[in-house]
Amino acid sequence: MASGTGPEQTFKGIAAAPGVSLGRVLIHVENELYVPNYAVDSEDLEGEIKRFELALLETRHEISKIRHQVADRLGEEEAQIFDAHLLVLEDPALIDETITELENNLRNIEYCFQKTSQKYIDAFQRIDDEFIKERLNDIKDVTRRILYNLAGETLKSLESIDAEQIVVSHDFTPSDAAAIPAEYLKGFITEAGSRTSHVVIMAKAASVPAVVGVHNILKTLQNGDEIIIDGFEGVVILNPSEATLYQYGESKKRRDTQELEFLKLSGEPAITKDGEQVIIMSNIEGNNEIPRVLETGSDGIGLYRTEYLFLKTGSFPSEESQFQAYKEVVKSMGDSAVILRTYDLGGDKVLQRKDLVDKEDNPFLGCRAIRFSLLYTEVFKDQLRAMLRASAYGNLKIMFPMVSGLEELHAANQLLDEVKKDLKASKVKFDESIEVGIMIEIPSAAFICDILADHCDFFSIGTNDLMQYMLAVDRGNEQVAHLYEPCHPALLRILKQIVEMSNAKNQPVSICGELAGDPIFVPLLVGLGLRNLSVSPNFVPSLKFLVRKLSVEETQALAEEVMMMSDPDPIFARLKSFHDSKEYGIKGVTNRNR
Ligand code: PEP
Ligand code: MG
Repeated sequence: MASGTGPEQTFKGIAAAPGVSLGRVLIHVENELYVPNYAVDSEDLEGEIKRFELALLETRHEISKIRHQVADRLGEEEAQIFDAHLLVLEDPALIDETITELENNLRNIEYCFQKTSQKYIDAFQRIDDEFIKERLNDIKDVTRRILYNLAGETLKSLESIDAEQIVVSHDFTPSDAAAIPAEYLKGFITEAGSRTSHVVIMAKAASVPAVVGVHNILKTLQNGDEIIIDGFEGVVILNPSEATLYQYGESKKRRDTQELEFLKLSGEPAITKDGEQVIIMSNIEGNNEIPRVLETGSDGIGLYRTEYLFLKTGSFPSEESQFQAYKEVVKSMGDSAVILRTYDLGGDKVLQRKDLVDKEDNPFLGCRAIRFSLLYTEVFKDQLRAMLRASAYGNLKIMFPMVSGLEELHAANQLLDEVKKDLKASKVKFDESIEVGIMIEIPSAAFICDILADHCDFFSIGTNDLMQYMLAVDRGNEQVAHLYEPCHPALLRILKQIVEMSNAKNQPVSICGELAGDPIFVPLLVGLGLRNLSVSPNFVPSLKFLVRKLSVEETQALAEEVMMMSDPDPIFARLKSFHDSKEYGIKGVTNRNR
């Protein structure tokens, strides 16, 4: 494709879903609909109500159709997003108040409906909460559909996309995202949004890149502009020059060819030149990723973020549906381990449902993860029961997130024991020697991991949170992203200490934060003594390949060298030069934010 006509311009956002695409911009503007406002007579009331009912029916029909399409295209879990839309349609507050408005004020029904729904939208808009924001999107989306149907128009949607385009919008409703035929979709860009938006979940499921939080990009972009969206780096490049296109084209070609090479050997273990195996497992968020995990030859699942079962639908899945999901994953992995992490809700894992947790000033320091589970013990016990029942079908392990000290670990273990006793009493089969581990992602846990090791079977280091809590940098705040520094000597020291303390206690330790999937850091992690990494399934083949290029001896020398250094920039430069010297085909792409 020819390069763009204007000057090249780069926009930085948040890398939300991986991948790189080149395509043409399609700006999606939420349609402004003209809503008439006129008086009706009392004898027209019945007719107005009838029109309203018909519009509701029609809307229900449309949403059900989209739900089916999404279920076929992306899977049942993604389709459940539209159940929330169907619920909005049945919301008595919205429907009854619209009719009361009609009866009291004798204005046309679309005007009454818009007035009522706008009241809810305004009220929701004042609440600063991720869960409410997503529900707000649901209400706006459904309102728009109903108004279109009242006006007798079909919602002009993204369904008409007919070329490979990258869709850019201030924000997306879930039906916007789902309406785009997957075969054309090349990526999503939003000015607003977070990593947990519906659109990001959809982008990941459709394997297309997404970059969110690109402030003011719509002031510059126009329909048809040529852009590159880089979901690895969170970058959008407008009018890429020949040199940039060449660079991206070359790296894509190289990536594709290399990826095939990597895949060929990916089923084999990753063994260093001096004969040590490094286990490379996958992090997943749902069962739809199982085929990719198997295809990439992962050595198991090192982190199943079970909270996504909740996040995708906004409600807790039943014990039975969890059991079915856990059983499926554990069975499909054969003898390989599957580590199910109990819910890590709260913090940026959003959905601080008003009925569950009061608004918190510092949600990352609040009722998150194991604290949430220990507060809602019935929800927690349901989950533990489902996990234990599934443990009868394979190599399943349980992991608790965000343990800060012994008290929480004891409390979680005690609840697990209670559930085990109940199951035994009911003669339900489970793995009685099931291993239970914890995430090491809070500095206090890192400092006392020798003590914690006596009360659990394994550790997994969560560098995403460890970094945020050690450095006091919100991991999702783009204003302080430059301070979220994996080369900070404090982080390197704590990693070294965790590994040494674990080894001294013979406690297995792995790492499942994003750093484990970053090829520039992998030699250092191996040098620090880590032999088990858990990463996004897409990174497994290349990391196995990289490990085979390393010797433990040289990585230990590298680790010793950088541990003596005090400045992040030279540390990063040294890690990058070591990585690049391996010449295994991939130039370092890193999570480092600068
Ligand atoms: C981590 O904190 O590093 C981690 C793997 O967990 P999450 O990203 O789900 O918080
Ligand atoms: Mg974490």
